[in-house]
Amino acid sequence: MPLEAGLLEILACPACHAPLKEEENELVCTGQDCGLAYPVRDGIPVLLVDEARRPE
Ligand SMILES: [Zn+2]
Repeated sequence: MPLEAGLLEILACPACHAPLKEEENELVCTGQDCGLAYPVRDGIPVLLVDEARRPE
């Protein structure tokens, strides 16, 4: 299920407030030194730092 059009533009990383980019089943923070990847479940982004995948 694709994200609602325009939704990505209003979303920001809750950790650093950088914009997010959509990847397969994830929203990835574009912030340098952050890069957290947030899961998208049933088309709904889960923007919780506790749920995010940390970059290697
Ligand atoms: Zn971030």
